Amino acid sequence: MNALAARSLNIVGAGLAGALLALLAARRGLSVTLYERRADPRQVQPERGRSINLALAARGMRALERAGVMERVQPLLIPMRGRMVHERSGQAQLQPYGQREHEVIWSVGRADLNRVLIEEAARHARVAVRFNQLCLGADVASGRLRLRDEAGGGEYQVELAPTIATDGAGSLVRASLAAAGLVAVREEWLDHDYKELTVPAARGAALERNALHIWPRGGFMLIALPNTDGSFTATLFLARSGSPSFATLGSAAAVSEFFAREFADAMPLLPQLAQQFASHPQGQLGTVHCTPWHLGGRVLLLGDAAHAIVPFHGQGMNAAFEDCAVLDGLLGQHADWESLFAQFEQLRRENTAAIAQMALENYGEMRDAVLDARFLRRKAIAMALERRFPDRFIPRYAMVMFHPEIPYAEALRRGAVQAQLLEELDDGDDREPDAARAAELIRERLPPLG
Ligand SMILES: Cc1cc2nc3c(=O)[nH]c(=O)nc-3n(C[C@H](O)[C@H](O)[C@H](O)COP(=O)(O)OP(=O)(O)OC[C@H]3O[C@@H](n4cnc5c(N)ncnc54)[C@H](O)[C@@H]3O)c2cc1C
Repeated sequence: MNALAARSLNIVGAGLAGALLALLAARRGLSVTLYERRADPRQVQPERGRSINLALAARGMRALERAGVMERVQPLLIPMRGRMVHERSGQAQLQPYGQREHEVIWSVGRADLNRVLIEEAARHARVAVRFNQLCLGADVASGRLRLRDEAGGGEYQVELAPTIATDGAGSLVRASLAAAGLVAVREEWLDHDYKELTVPAARGAALERNALHIWPRGGFMLIALPNTDGSFTATLFLARSGSPSFATLGSAAAVSEFFAREFADAMPLLPQLAQQFASHPQGQLGTVHCTPWHLGGRVLLLGDAAHAIVPFHGQGMNAAFEDCAVLDGLLGQHADWESLFAQFEQLRRENTAAIAQMALENYGEMRDAVLDARFLRRKAIAMALERRFPDRFIPRYAMVMFHPEIPYAEALRRGAVQAQLLEELDDGDDREPDAARAAELIRERLPPLG
């Protein structure tokens, strides 16, 4: 139960984090009004634009379990056991993500997952979901939240405190606080964009279903994740300008020529490629840095609204769900929103900064290093060390994806120590490193995990 004096809460944005948070808060006895700018996804087709499917991992699943929705989410999930790396030659090889049966990540459709979370939240008597309501911003001075009814027309205001803004990477609540000089925001855009393309089920049959496919090409890459209907969603990540870049792919001929040259074995999977390319949106990617995340007990930014990251570790949604789980835990411990929001920010800031950094680093790994002999050798050494010293050495990727009990910041710190260790232990051939030396270094530098 919660000990808060104020027992009602506004949540802005019924996306992945907002819908889950509404459910968790209602289970704690709070009355929640959830404002969402889109129409009810139970009645209309989801809008295009954001990624169609996502990788869900242990952190996100832990939060979904906490909310009691895993049973409904499970049928939406497809296990991905590793990266299927497609070389230019057309050869493909599976690089397993982990070395235990349960060490897999899960492909899930964004729209399906969001719809289940909204349904579960809306079923709760204490949750009122108001669709077609665009939040225009928070006015902290007057203590009002400004909204516009997109269906009926007309602007109105409601009492601000307390509001949690989960209105995503382009948060208007964050923008309104920044415009009033109350928060400092830095949006760090990547000079690479993305575009999604569909591999229909009939063609997807040619691809291994239980893998995340990557066509790494050094400066850019194509990836594909499976969907439950047998189709795959492919995503091209490529520089916005320069050569090659999205800017050089302005004609059907240029697109076909580029794919035939770079992704010859993927071409047959993508029917009407040039048409798809021309009609699907080109999305931007970036990291959002914002300080502070809360203003007293009146408003708090959470999920992408507070800390959007690039998608290369598959952790943005997982981090947003972890935010929800942490906030839920605090609901039971605080008597006022100000101390709760403050502690939330204190607990999460270092961790979300760490995953932001690791997500950026992972782009290089995915588009380039996975083909590199040194990378593969060190990965093999790291797995061998994990088998021998499971309480001290866990590869960084595994800490992030499979070990929610290890905070992101700790994964980053231990990962740096481990990278140095691998540097010292890797003598350039495929033999296992000297066992006694490895044991000594690990005991010296890596304290046992809690
Ligand atoms: C290409 C790509 C691939 C990705 N892949 C992964 C992945 O594999 N794994 C992973 O964990 N993460 C991934 N992510 C990140 C993930 O999509 C986000 O981190 C996640 O959606 C954040 O959830 P959120 O609820 O904070 O924001 P969102 O899911 O964006 O939800 C925001 C909600 O607020 C609503 N809204 C927005 N503005 C307003 C307003 N003014 N008023 C009212 N409502 C509003 C929106 O309609 C939406 O419903 C990916 C992102 C991209 C772009």
